Amino acid sequence: MDLQEIIDDIYLALQPRLGEGKVADYIPQLAHVDPRKFGMAIIDLDGRIYKAGDCDEPFSIQSVSKVFTLTLALGKHGETTWNRVGREPSGSAFNSIVQLEHESGKPRNPFINAGAIAVSDLVLAGHTPKEAIAEIVRFVQYLADDPSITIDPEVARSETATGFRNFALANFMKSFGRLEHPVEHVLGVYFHQCALAMTCTQLARSGLFLAANGKNPLTGHTVVSSQRARRINALMLTCGHYDGSGDFAYHVGLPGKSGVGGGILAVAPGRASVAVWSPGLNDNGNSLIGSLALEMLANRTGWSVFGAPAA
Ligand code: GLN
Repeated sequence: MDLQEIIDDIYLALQPRLGEGKVADYIPQLAHVDPRKFGMAIIDLDGRIYKAGDCDEPFSIQSVSKVFTLTLALGKHGETTWNRVGREPSGSAFNSIVQLEHESGKPRNPFINAGAIAVSDLVLAGHTPKEAIAEIVRFVQYLADDPSITIDPEVARSETATGFRNFALANFMKSFGRLEHPVEHVLGVYFHQCALAMTCTQLARSGLFLAANGKNPLTGHTVVSSQRARRINALMLTCGHYDGSGDFAYHVGLPGKSGVGGGILAVAPGRASVAVWSPGLNDNGNSLIGSLALEMLANRTGWSVFGAPAA
């Protein structure tokens, strides 16, 4: 199987469709991104990299960051993390507030905004917001083995100025006594983690530990136990695309996490880590062309967590 040929074919086949979908414009800074951008990077467990398109151009990873902060929070708090956030698919939009009232301010899962805000609160424990943000950046640099990864301050500022929904979610949780730190501090961490700027290549590298039982095969670092890696993958599969998670599992069949910047990180356990970027979103806020690219990749490679690997 020639992965470079496959990724080149996918890029070529999708060329006429680039620009489809709707770029997130509720964060003003994201509205400026060229909707025709497309990048894809696959890294296998031996470190071979296969690339297409704008895969070395940084973009705003947004909610893909929720995988990294969940991993950090689990490292700090272990299973008690689940006292603060659930593990069930929400079946509602990423920024929905309705479920929170019924469920006394405990978010359904760590990947919807409310859940990620609860996780940011956990990452803040024992830190100032500045320290927590620095810890997140260092962690992602360590995962990707790339010290050049940074936060785009303009995106963080832009979202802080307009993140009224997230303020509503955080204030609502605070009213239920579900956040330990001041709302401004928690959201400061949350907005900055979402503003991490990464290339597809960097993002694929940072997800490699999830494809390899918790250990980055390139650096030799054990990031999490194999059990924890499997569990994070399970959450990505069931909750990583919000109310489009079932559809993503049906069409792609791999754990994945999307962000409104148009990025998706997908994990093919035992095989590879894949990142794709295309800014136009579908109705669920997931990259439209990015999802298609991953579906094509899964079809061509046979990669899936639901079937036995081809002999
Ligand atoms: N920062 C974005 C928000 O809070 C993240 C949402 C997303 O990527 N789905 O709205």
